[in-house]
Amino acid sequence: MQYEGTVYRPPSEARSLIVQVTVGCAHNTCTFCTMYKDKKFKIRPLADILADFDEAAMLYGGHIRRIFLADGDALIVKTEMLIQILTYIWEKFPNLERVTAYGTTQDILHKSEEELMQLKAAGLDMVYMGIESGDPQVLKDVKKGVTREEMIEAGRKLKRCGILCSATLISGLGGRQRLREHAVASASLISAIKPDYVGFLTLMIDPQAPVYSKIVSGELELLNPEDVVEEMKLFLQNVDSEGTVFRSNHASNYVILKGTLNEDIPSMLAYLRQVEEQGKYREERWRRF
Ligand code: SF4
Repeated sequence: MQYEGTVYRPPSEARSLIVQVTVGCAHNTCTFCTMYKDKKFKIRPLADILADFDEAAMLYGGHIRRIFLADGDALIVKTEMLIQILTYIWEKFPNLERVTAYGTTQDILHKSEEELMQLKAAGLDMVYMGIESGDPQVLKDVKKGVTREEMIEAGRKLKRCGILCSATLISGLGGRQRLREHAVASASLISAIKPDYVGFLTLMIDPQAPVYSKIVSGELELLNPEDVVEEMKLFLQNVDSEGTVFRSNHASNYVILKGTLNEDIPSMLAYLRQVEEQGKYREERWRRF
């Protein structure tokens, strides 16, 4: 199996077979992200991708139940080639249950609904979208490259085409300066998409990240654990997304929170109040990107 550089995956893909369909991220300008800054973006040749699957099938065959197509935005690959890959792997792994990939808003909007439905039919079950924030100002500041409206359209489009949508938000991305705006606008964006899953990470900054200088200058003030809980409470008090599975279980988070919106909002808020009272936050030394 050929891996280039560090390979990242969502927390829920911990037990998945991961194969790089692309290397890096075609966008690669988000100011908080250093995941792919050392990689020059490319789409791997189809023969190399299929050779990796051949090798994995030989080594692990019937044990593979989930496959995650890496890197940052595998959905950028032409639909025809993605269908070839999907068809190949669903034939190759007899006990496969699910195939997922990261997809940017741009990738989703560039594909027609017909193409997305073809991908679903070929076995692409879920796309992870890095929403990061619903606040237009934050999206602009971090150079996300898309608008809030485009994200809503992309999330809804996935759902219309039968592909599950898993959205990721980042606690603290607006700093203390935009804590309220970030929380409330993220809640309204999730309410507008009603994704199947929503997950929170908490902002951690690599000194190599372009945004680091703003933190040093104080232009962006990082949240402490109490601020993060305050932001999360605001999010939960404002979101309306019946049935969305909610997870805040990433290694970067100060507090682990799980539930289903909207039914578990009262119990999650009660848990956050308890965490605040007892000061039970994950210690800084145990937090990870
Ligand atoms: S956050 Fe996502 S879209 Fe932005 S640079 Fe990183 S991988 Fe690319």
